[in-house]
Amino acid sequence: MSSKLDPVTQAIRIQIPKTQQQEHSTPLYITSSFTFDEAESMRAAFADESDDNIYSRFSNPNVDEFVDKMCALEGAEAGFATSTGMSAIFSSMFALLKQGDHLICCSSVFGSTFTMVTKYLPRFGITATLVPVGDNAAWEAAVQPNTKMIYLETPTNPQLEVLDLEWSGQFAKKHNLILNVDNCFATPLLQKPIDYGADLVVHSATKWIDGQGRVLGGVVVGRADLVKEIYLFCRNTGPSMSPFNAWVLSKSLETLDVRMQRHCENALKMAEILQNNPNVAWVKYPFLPTHPQYEIAKKQMKLGGGVLCLEIKGGIEAGRKFLDSLEMLSVTANLGDTRSIASHPASTTHSRLTEAERLSVGITSGLIRISAGLEKVDDIIADIAQALEKSAL
Ligand SMILES: *Cc1c(COP(=O)(O)O)cnc(C)c1O
Repeated sequence: MSSKLDPVTQAIRIQIPKTQQQEHSTPLYITSSFTFDEAESMRAAFADESDDNIYSRFSNPNVDEFVDKMCALEGAEAGFATSTGMSAIFSSMFALLKQGDHLICCSSVFGSTFTMVTKYLPRFGITATLVPVGDNAAWEAAVQPNTKMIYLETPTNPQLEVLDLEWSGQFAKKHNLILNVDNCFATPLLQKPIDYGADLVVHSATKWIDGQGRVLGGVVVGRADLVKEIYLFCRNTGPSMSPFNAWVLSKSLETLDVRMQRHCENALKMAEILQNNPNVAWVKYPFLPTHPQYEIAKKQMKLGGGVLCLEIKGGIEAGRKFLDSLEMLSVTANLGDTRSIASHPASTTHSRLTEAERLSVGITSGLIRISAGLEKVDDIIADIAQALEKSAL
């Protein structure tokens, strides 16, 4: 595929070689392994002297097609796809860090990433310092002689904090650290961390990349030498993506650009209207001028993303009532779907934490996270407005 084509076109046009049937759409390669006509070609494949597929834990045509498209979109040299976003994040750390190494991580990261970094990495002698967004002096102070990697998420889930990628890229370069960025919320259509010096980009493909709430998936793309290590780690430890999920996700990438435009347009309109709702204390969205990192978001993102947060007046009770009053929006533990989704962390995912614990991870009592779907925006806003009215205390 010509690399002169725009990445969006490449995400539509990249296709593995056709079979004799000359199919237009890529078929599904449900096979665990691949055969060899001669011992010699099998030897060459195992010796890395050919690109022949061997076994679907290592590579598979559907997975390759998905990865090639992701590399085109992110502007990356190489990539590897995994079963979930978490296995992509896990592999990007465990393949490259060893006992005695240190990691710097932004303090508001996805919940499972937080648990992995604070609970599991230390069991293997890998320590981490969590640093708040925007506190540049704290980032500098966190660097140790054994620091190897910086891990960031921007915008963060669910607080929608935005980290300065340009500053982070320069910081990583200055200290010779691997910069690893979770680009799940923005997708490569809105922001390309590699342009700012990221060495690795990880994704939960489960979210906007699938975009239709069907499959789990993850992917790591970036510098070829680092991806090679991650590939070898995964090839031997087994978190590979299934061919079926790759087939679904490769098709999804053909519509990612048009979907993201509509998701972002809907989210911005919702943010603008809901910030004036009398039952809402505040709305947070990267492209609202009231967002604390609005200038940074405008600098590094093409659009503001599909997720917005609002603080409902009345705390936990109002939040619970809000979920119960929704007539159309889905109440579910996912985001990045054609269908709009609402969640209230304080009464659901984070209900076991004390208020102080919740606040320390940025979850206020009335925080509602909304993933803007592709429905007509007036219908989404009307449902949210009626639920807000019913939940007013
Ligand atoms: C959902 C999510 C993940 C984890 O992805 P899974 O596919 O659920 O394993 C990681 N990072 C972010 C920002 C997410 O939203």
